[in-house]
Amino acid sequence: MKATVVREFTGPITVEDRPLPEPAAHQVRVRIEASGLCHTDIHAARGDWPVRPALPFVPGHEGVGIVDAVGASVRCVQVGDRVALPWLADACGHCDQCVLGWETLCLTQHNTGYSVDGSHAEYALAHGDYVVPVPDGVDPLDAAPLTCAGVTTYKTVKLAGARPGTRVLVSGIGGLGHLALQYARLAGAETVGVDVTDDKLALARELGVDHVVDARTEDVAARLRALGGADAAIAVAVAVAVSNESFRAAYGSLRRGGTLVLVALPTDGRLELPVFETVLNGTKVVGSIVGMRQDLAEVFRLHALGRTRVIRESRRLEDINAAVEEVLAGKVSARLVFDLR
Ligand code: NAD
Ligand code: ZN
Ligand code: ZN
Repeated sequence: MKATVVREFTGPITVEDRPLPEPAAHQVRVRIEASGLCHTDIHAARGDWPVRPALPFVPGHEGVGIVDAVGASVRCVQVGDRVALPWLADACGHCDQCVLGWETLCLTQHNTGYSVDGSHAEYALAHGDYVVPVPDGVDPLDAAPLTCAGVTTYKTVKLAGARPGTRVLVSGIGGLGHLALQYARLAGAETVGVDVTDDKLALARELGVDHVVDARTEDVAARLRALGGADAAIAVAVAVAVSNESFRAAYGSLRRGGTLVLVALPTDGRLELPVFETVLNGTKVVGSIVGMRQDLAEVFRLHALGRTRVIRESRRLEDINAAVEEVLAGKVSARLVFDLR
């Protein structure tokens, strides 16, 4: 089978022929139809984060495909089912976090395309209990971005407390941000989209966002103060050197009692908080990491009902390095998806 492989953090991703993997008793093998390129794959391939993946590895955690082999102890999935392979490859299932339904905080979890081989390949193995069924009627090319960008921002919008009468700012209208804006609108919030490219600002308008702010030319915090401040600011912007600035702007946009939700994971990301203002304003700062299997099931259901739009373009798996450069140059409409059908 064809697979993309990260062999070093400084070189290009290679495309290799590998033997077809055999599922263990608890695993399924999935023939990948579509696999979305998340900015996290770029962080992974470059070793951007404090905990680096062990080399070599296959990146990709927005995989969607058809189960073509099942291990002996797999009960809930059958050959022929269409499933999604999210970032949460598996968790222990019995620690307090898992039992309370916070499997994404499990200390012994594995992560697809990071600590276990991922979906930027023709086939991938996955834990039978942690793949999520993709309902009929959801295009695999849409399902792929929903598997990380969708589930992450759906969970984030819940954590942000978006509801009618609230104002929610989304900083960074890329793969994650364009879905965050849609979930905030579905929750009934007034929405503000912030970005630094004309195309992304135009996309926000097309998605029906209430206010659009160009961070290149406008003071984001001042614009929001004039509106009355944000009840929640969702920080999903990522770009070399400017990310911390976008975090500061998101923090500065909050009204009293507001919540800053941190989602983007830039290299060496740091946020310095003024203690006095944070205390007197009753500001909350929350980290948001992906979402649970149930969140992804809800994301797919909303999409099947026609409530969300996935803005994406297809690429060939062989062109993964060119695709990475496109994302870094900010030239992508929202999400690139490798089409393996
Ligand atoms: P992306 O490249 O598709 O989007 C980033 C967007 O930020 C782009 O539209 C870009 O124009 C915009 N941007 C850059 N600088 C800006 C600025 N100063 N102000 C406003 N916007 C700016 O990336 P993505 O795939 O959406 O991922 C975003 C980040 O989220 C990455 O760091 C990724 O690793 C992280 N992520 C986190 C989680 C989680 O669970 N916390 C899950 C998935 C991805
Ligand atoms: Zn991701
Ligand atoms: Zn656990």
